Amino acid sequence: MGDRIVTGLAHQFWLRCEHAEPLFSADELQWAQPEEVERFRALGFLRTAAMATRAVCDACDDGHAEDVVWIRNAQTGLLAPFLPCPEVGGAPVNPERLQRWAIDLDLTAGELRNQMGLVGHLAPILPGRVWSLGRRHLAGRFRDFFFVCGATWPDTHTLWDRCRYIEDAPSPVILVPTRPPGGDSWRAKSVPVFRLADVGCFTESGLTLDLAYIEDAVPRDVYAMPAKSVSSFPVTDGAMWDELRITVRETAIVADLRGTSREFGTEELGFAGADDRLWQLLCVFASVGGQTPARNTSVSDKDAITLRKQVSNLRQRLAMIFPIAGDSIRSVHGTGAYRCIFKIGLDRRDGFPAPPERWDECRFTELRDGRISIAVKSKEVFAARTISEEPQRRTAIEAAERAGVRTEDYDLRVLGLADQSGVPTSEGRLLLEFLRSGGKLNRRGDDKDLLRLAQRLRTWMGIDGDPFQFSPSRRLWSAVFECQSHRAKVP
Ligand SMILES: [Zn+2]
Repeated sequence: MGDRIVTGLAHQFWLRCEHAEPLFSADELQWAQPEEVERFRALGFLRTAAMATRAVCDACDDGHAEDVVWIRNAQTGLLAPFLPCPEVGGAPVNPERLQRWAIDLDLTAGELRNQMGLVGHLAPILPGRVWSLGRRHLAGRFRDFFFVCGATWPDTHTLWDRCRYIEDAPSPVILVPTRPPGGDSWRAKSVPVFRLADVGCFTESGLTLDLAYIEDAVPRDVYAMPAKSVSSFPVTDGAMWDELRITVRETAIVADLRGTSREFGTEELGFAGADDRLWQLLCVFASVGGQTPARNTSVSDKDAITLRKQVSNLRQRLAMIFPIAGDSIRSVHGTGAYRCIFKIGLDRRDGFPAPPERWDECRFTELRDGRISIAVKSKEVFAARTISEEPQRRTAIEAAERAGVRTEDYDLRVLGLADQSGVPTSEGRLLLEFLRSGGKLNRRGDDKDLLRLAQRLRTWMGIDGDPFQFSPSRRLWSAVFECQSHRAKVP
C-alpha cells in the first residue's frame, strides 16, 4: 500500500506546536478522523497527557467552561467527574472527554532529523521550545538545522540571545511549525526559515519533508564562499572538534581525526593561495598554537571587527571541510581573543608545533612510560599578528597575555635523544637527569654532552635563547625550563 497523504489533523498539529501547552483535548480530536488520530498516536507524535481539570459544559447550550469537580458516586463509592452548571445545576462528565493528548515535540524533533538524514548533535537548546537537529550538506555547504516553536511569543526578543548556537552556526536553517520569527530582534533576516506546515507532510508511515524544496530555497552563495567546490573530510558521526588536529604546511594542511589522516592542498580547501586572507589567518592560528592573544586597547574597533569577520568566515570554511557540529573557533569571553577548539600547529615534524618565545614558558616532564611531555604555557606578553582589511598589510595589532597551554608528548627517539632501540644517547640521558633532579646538575662549564643537548633543544623548540644557565662558582647547571619526572631517580 502506497503512502496516502493524511491532511486534516496535520495542519492542526503544526498550529498546536506553537502553543505554550501543545496538546489536544478529547473534544478537539473528535473532529479528526479516528484512524488519523490513532496513527498519530501509534507513531508517537501524540501521547496521553494528564486529564483535563476544566471542560466545556455539554449539559446546556451555553458552551461555558468550568472546573471539573470530583464527586463520590453513592452507589459505586468511586469518585466521578462532575461539571457544575448555573443553567441546569450540573451534570456528570464522561471521563473520556477529559482525556488529553500532548504533542511529543522531542520525538517530532527526532523525526525531522531522521527525515533529513542529519548527523551530529540532536539536543534541545531550550527544552520544549528550541532544538538543534544536526547538520548535513545541502545546496553547496554544510548547514545546521534548528527546530523552533513559539518564535512569535512575546519573549522572542530574548529568545535568540538564549540560543547562541543558532547565532554562531555558520549556516543555520530554521524550521518552525507555522510561525516564522518576525521583528528586529531577529538578527538573521538572511537565515532561511521554513514552515513545517508547508514543507512537512504526514503519510501513513510517518513524517516526511520536502527536502528538494528546502534545497532550492536556501541561498547558495554567501561571502567567502569559494568559487570551486571544497573537499571535505570523512567525519564519523558524533566526532567533536576537539578530536581534530590540523597541521599546517606551506601549501597544505594535514587533518587527523579518530585515526584517519588526510592531506588537503590549499586549492582543495578553496583558498586562493598564499595571499588568501583566510589561509593567512589559519597560519596565524597555527603559529600561536590555536589561540590569539587578548585584544589590546591600541587595537581599533575597525580592526577588531575585521578580525571577527575573518574568524567567522574561517569558521564557515572549516565547517564545509569538516562536517562537525558546533563551533570550531570560539571567542574567549571578554578578551577579544579567539581559540580554536581543534588542535592546530605548524608542520614542524622536527620540532614543537607552536614555538614558544622563551624557555621559562616550557615544562618538560618525563612520563611513566618513558616519553617526554613538553608543555608550553605562555604567561608573557607577546605580539601576535593579524591581517588587516587592506591586502598584504599585516599589522601587529595585539600584545597581550596568552592563556593557552600546549602539550605534546614525544618518544626520546623522536626527539633525537635515543637510538633506534630506544636507548637514550648521552644527551638523552642528561636530559632525563635534569628532569629527575628538578633541573639542577653539577657539571663542568664546557660539558660537551650538555652543550649538544642545549643545541638539540633549541632546534626542537625553535627558541634562540639558552635552555641552561651555568653558575661557575658552584659549577652548577640550571635548566631555564621547568623540569619534572614521574619516574624514579636515574639508576
Ligand atoms: Zn451549562
